[in-house]
Amino acid sequence: MPHNGCPHQCSFCNQRGITGKSYQPKSEDVVSAIELAQDKLKENTKNAQIAFFGGSFTAIDREYMLSLLEATSPYIENFKGIRISTRPDYIDDEILELLKKYKVTSIELGAQSMNDEVLKVNERGHTVQDVINSSQLIKSYGFELGLQMMTGLYKSNDDIDICTAEKFIEIKPDTVRIYPTVVMKKTKLEMLYKTGVYVPPTLENAVNLCSKLLLKFDENNIKVIRLGLHYSDSLKTDMIAGAYHPSFKELCESKILFDKVYMSLSSQPKGKYKVKVSPKCISKLIGNNKSNIKKLKKLGYELNIISDNSVYYMDIEFI
Ligand code: SF4
Repeated sequence: MPHNGCPHQCSFCNQRGITGKSYQPKSEDVVSAIELAQDKLKENTKNAQIAFFGGSFTAIDREYMLSLLEATSPYIENFKGIRISTRPDYIDDEILELLKKYKVTSIELGAQSMNDEVLKVNERGHTVQDVINSSQLIKSYGFELGLQMMTGLYKSNDDIDICTAEKFIEIKPDTVRIYPTVVMKKTKLEMLYKTGVYVPPTLENAVNLCSKLLLKFDENNIKVIRLGLHYSDSLKTDMIAGAYHPSFKELCESKILFDKVYMSLSSQPKGKYKVKVSPKCISKLIGNNKSNIKKLKKLGYELNIISDNSVYYMDIEFI
């Protein structure tokens, strides 16, 4: 979905710079996308959702929003449902009833922070209470709830971001997305960054923080369905600073596995050790460019990694 016409000016968003340039999908485009998905997925469409993402779906022109939903109607029974993302202050009973009618199943809110000062200085235009109220309303209608947060925003810090995660956990969403802040051209953040007022977290800092957040959500059985920004053309051309890495989640998981190994080994004599991990975690344990293996070697520990299907994902077992 395009951001065209959004009346807000969030510090990190360059939608004003792109207004008028991005393509507004029409109902025919929705139909083509669904038919293409049906061709590709065959009978697996029942496991797939139709998603309207990128903009604030419930904040766009009402007639336009309804025309897009209407386009899904002939196909909806073949899919698991519809997923949309929007702002917390564009949710009310009327809109939720409409979304129910069109078989929307999941609603994600761009909450970004659960600190009013951070929301204010980043010009989000909504409050923490808006996030709480709209989340409760969404859940009361039986929708799946997703919450999105950004780390390292202007005037935020690790403690505030951890507190945001804790407040999310109190709300008990079904899913969470975590995006470390990046500085894009033609944004307020660009000006703050260029004048030295805002310094975005380094990649290392962001990985350290986000690995903690990942563990926190995991311990509370909340699925983190995205960690780190998707690669896009606008990211390639417009990003000027920030903690972006194409495999950001993998870096965080590597950090978690390194910490688990080191916590077990640090009280042991230096030497060679055998450790079992799930096959899906071997590359994560080795780390990007063997970083974990090299770090452990420097600390005096040599690992022999054994792939074992019986070990849970992200667990380790020493033998
Ligand atoms: S991030 Fe903020 S400014 Fe950008 S489209 Fe969403 S609400 Fe509008």
